[in-house]
Amino acid sequence: MTAAHTVRPTRDQVLKNLVIANRVLAAYEVVDGWGHVSARDPDDADSFIMSAVRAPALVRERDLVAIRVGDGEPPAQIKASVERHIHAGIYRSRKDVTAVVHCHAEALIPFGVAGVPLRPLAHTDAFLIDGCPIWEIRAATYRDTMLVDTAELGDSLAATLAQAPIALMRGHGATIVGASIHEAVYRAIYARHAALVDLAGRSLGTVRYLSTDEARSAADSTVKTFDRTWELWSTQHGATSL
Ligand SMILES: [Zn+2]
Repeated sequence: MTAAHTVRPTRDQVLKNLVIANRVLAAYEVVDGWGHVSARDPDDADSFIMSAVRAPALVRERDLVAIRVGDGEPPAQIKASVERHIHAGIYRSRKDVTAVVHCHAEALIPFGVAGVPLRPLAHTDAFLIDGCPIWEIRAATYRDTMLVDTAELGDSLAATLAQAPIALMRGHGATIVGASIHEAVYRAIYARHAALVDLAGRSLGTVRYLSTDEARSAADSTVKTFDRTWELWSTQHGATSL
């Protein structure tokens, strides 16, 4: 049987799944009043869809807007999150990416500032073996902003991300990508999980990370379970009420 997360979704499914993703990410404390998740428009590869400005837990389908990949601009008269440029920059540079999560999860912040790399300590977090670069905004602009508020900064973040599944943003948070909404949500939840178990492990003593071979094997296995976790999370967090 073909895994649902590997089947190209319709636009209606993407809209519904984006609402679910917003609720799930809020429930798992990946996002709070801020943070966002987007998906490439399946009917128009040069657009992506995200909540305009609403807090993730409150997002409804009518809060979603289509934004141009080319310049990160929404339709005229529509107010959109200034950090839409994170998403636009990544969709410009990564044709394989169809979903992006941006968050300020507190457990991830230390790994962007303390010189300790975020690495997989548990098999569920094995995708981190493919890299977790840190983006330094001061290397991209001399303005004092901490926000990715221009297309140029979006391109700079995307260049640091390169082919990795996640980039930490120094003093800010993280941006996570996936080939599906399911994958991006999974990775965002388990990036936070990786940070939490690492911080807990270090409080007990020296930690042992997965070897590269262990992580590659585990990452291959978890990809096959995205439908299972998505079914659980979407059922728990409101899919049946949509
Ligand atoms: Zn942010």
